Amino acid sequence: MDMTEVDHRKIGKQLDLFSINEDAGPGLPLFHPKGTIILNILRDFWEEEHKKAGYVFVNTPNIYKSNTWQISGHWDYFKENMFITKKEDEEYAIKPMNCPGHMFIYKSSKKSYRDLPIRMGEMGTVYRNELSGNLTGLFRVVKITQDDAHIFCTENQVESEIIRIIDLTLSMYKVFGFKDVKIELSTKPEKAVGSNEIWEMAEGILKKVLEEKKMKYELNEGDGAFYGPKIDFHIKDSTGKTWQCGTIQLDFNLPERFNLKYAGEDNTEHQPIMIHRVIYGALERFFGILIEHYNGDFPTWLAPVQVRILSFTDRNIEYSKKISEGLKKFGIRVDEDYESNTMSSKVMDAELQKIPYIITCGDKEEEKETLAIRGRNGKVKFNVKPEDFIEQILEEIKEKK
Ligand SMILES: [Zn+2]
Repeated sequence: MDMTEVDHRKIGKQLDLFSINEDAGPGLPLFHPKGTIILNILRDFWEEEHKKAGYVFVNTPNIYKSNTWQISGHWDYFKENMFITKKEDEEYAIKPMNCPGHMFIYKSSKKSYRDLPIRMGEMGTVYRNELSGNLTGLFRVVKITQDDAHIFCTENQVESEIIRIIDLTLSMYKVFGFKDVKIELSTKPEKAVGSNEIWEMAEGILKKVLEEKKMKYELNEGDGAFYGPKIDFHIKDSTGKTWQCGTIQLDFNLPERFNLKYAGEDNTEHQPIMIHRVIYGALERFFGILIEHYNGDFPTWLAPVQVRILSFTDRNIEYSKKISEGLKKFGIRVDEDYESNTMSSKVMDAELQKIPYIITCGDKEEEKETLAIRGRNGKVKFNVKPEDFIEQILEEIKEKK
């Protein structure tokens, strides 16, 4: 098969995952029930991994007063990409980034060095005003759900925090089979806040970490964020395309602009360092990448429908229903096809839907209380006991195979 023809928009339609409605607007995908299942699994997986890595989660507004964006510098450096709105006589803007909300939470109580590092995560939805011509499928969107987090730490903690983020990022990519990851280091852009001194220090820290970890990287001069330099992760999908997904940005500037403080061991006030980071990047885009990466053949843990039950004849519907209910009790995602079409057309339809397991229930199965199971390779296993299948698929889901 020619992998260059893999198009997430086509697969997304075939599998009923999402659609884009021109009346709704370009760059604003609508996720259908099956697509939402996958998005939610990606979110849950992200949350689990981050909980284990010591993150806490927050929930912040989608719009803020213009004052916020004047403090952050977005008003001067990012305004043309923002949706501006009004409330009473005051200007507001829809957030293009989650950072200010997280800094307001940091500031809501006094902090001491004992509280740091704080790793604050949020699947935050941001909006960016991009030219319609640049918007394609899920790859360039206006509504972006970032798997965002900010780490507030002391100078001594910066290096170990960056290493932790790199390790978490690579371990999450591995689960999706992204093992070929390239790293880029981006430095001070033309439009930037903060002194050259601070920029050099921040760039120096990132270089040091990469070199100490013996990670190969390419230098991308002038491509940093306006508030700090960054490390970008580029993953290669199964079709050979590469995508920039994760990023780690080191920021000495926003903590200063928002006047963040903590009491140090020496009892005087210090300014924490802030690390911005995403692993998926944009959830919508990462989903699009996965659709193409797997060519729609999602591994069982991600598949919106994991098992389809087919009744051989109308006589077997009762037995089919019993099997279906039995699987559903274990949280397995099952759907049914009890139509009176031919078996081969029912199987073909399930295969077009790229469902990992197709179970047929006929007279023989009913009599022996077993299952006939067709896997992705098209081979059929007969005489499988329902409890054995349940055990096997639950293990497969748990292991994310
Ligand atoms: Zn941020």
